Amino acid sequence: MSTATTSEATFARGIHPPEEKHLAEEMPIEILPIPAEVNIPLLQHLGAPCEPLVDKKQEVQLGEKIGEATGFISSPVHSSIDGKTKKATVTTLPNGRHVPMIPITAAAEQSLSGQALFDDFFGGEWPRDGLDTHTSEEISKAVLEAGVVGLGGAAFPSHVKMARNEETPIEYLLINGCECEPYLTADYRMMVEAADAIITGTLLAKHSTGAREARIGVENNKPKAIAALRKAAEGTGIIVQSLKTKYPQGAERQLSVAMVDREVPTLGLPLHVGVVVQNVGTIAAIARAVLRGKPLTHRVVTVTGAGIREPKNLLVPIGVSYRVLIEHCGGMTEDAARVVSGGPMMGFTVGNLDAPVTKGTSGVTVLTHEDVRSSAETACIRCGRCVDACPLNLVPTKIALAARVGNTEVMERYYLPACVECGCCAYTCPASIPLVQLVRIGKIQLSKK
Ligand code: SF4
Ligand code: SF4
Repeated sequence: MSTATTSEATFARGIHPPEEKHLAEEMPIEILPIPAEVNIPLLQHLGAPCEPLVDKKQEVQLGEKIGEATGFISSPVHSSIDGKTKKATVTTLPNGRHVPMIPITAAAEQSLSGQALFDDFFGGEWPRDGLDTHTSEEISKAVLEAGVVGLGGAAFPSHVKMARNEETPIEYLLINGCECEPYLTADYRMMVEAADAIITGTLLAKHSTGAREARIGVENNKPKAIAALRKAAEGTGIIVQSLKTKYPQGAERQLSVAMVDREVPTLGLPLHVGVVVQNVGTIAAIARAVLRGKPLTHRVVTVTGAGIREPKNLLVPIGVSYRVLIEHCGGMTEDAARVVSGGPMMGFTVGNLDAPVTKGTSGVTVLTHEDVRSSAETACIRCGRCVDACPLNLVPTKIALAARVGNTEVMERYYLPACVECGCCAYTCPASIPLVQLVRIGKIQLSKK
């Protein structure tokens, strides 16, 4: 990606790690061949797990609901292939959660595959007229039924963000096209190849939330994505805003400040300042759910890193294993050292390559020994670099020390729960102190308290 500097709008602090997007950015979205088996976790989102709707040895169709949402903050799951279920079991996801899952063996004949599958997701017409004939309630219900959750990684059930709120009206709908995490290019390819679906989804979400204005924020290192979105948005009133390339530009709070100068309170939500944020992939899934009545069964995943032989962007069925994706990309290089779910800043190490891809899996990054070479931890030298880097204005060194000794009172006083685990502090720390791991330990201690 060439670095155009058409806009320098951004937030305070943060970092600019090597982007490493050149590995996969020019690889068009490819459709993964149907795998022999998928394993569909019943918890792929924030909130309550699903109740299973199927038994073992039951035939299921692509898109059939196999797990029902069990609360307001919950989301159903659907079969991502035509096939037959096996006995439910339990898996451990890369984020450490143990979740029940339903294995499905693929049928010999599939109703949708190859280019037809791609077209079903992103191709064809995406009408702009008549969107306001759908009520906000109808749109929210369609998004819930389709199991759409935030595809940027957080996996928050999207229907919750689609409702109108009379008490705290939405002023700005912000669509996140930053993809600031190094290496990952799945959102970038979607913006280039599926701009029409993104624009129609944005119009639907604007209508549903009652937002006064809709904007799409894209970092200025993605000029092709900005051009494709601006072309698709002509005549719609949607503003495609170019932002400075900086990490974590795509985090909700940082996006809100950079795009509309709204500061989200430390422990508050964007909603509290009249803002709602959706990711570009999520917004395309919303358009498909509402206008085509199709559930979220697949997502675009970047398989990349110097440790992978043929980096690609793939449209994959939810529940396919990391192993299948890596093998489809030519396997790992001899110096591959670590497989990460997501990117290197916020991702989780994949301990078991047979673990399933979920709705929140934005990428698979295979790092080499050179990439992960780290120095031994030494004592804090009180240099303050972690404080200068923290986009939330926290004091990471104090938080980490409190977590190390289990002092929950100090953790709360220094707003540990507000930490988004972006990793800026650890990235800058010359003493190699594992600040993010300590924050995660602190969060567990606080939750026990
Ligand atoms: S303390 Fe949390 S929010 Fe601040 S830089 Fe570190 S990981 Fe990011
Ligand atoms: S960056 Fe590391 S060494 Fe410097 S103050 Fe923060 S924790 Fe201490």
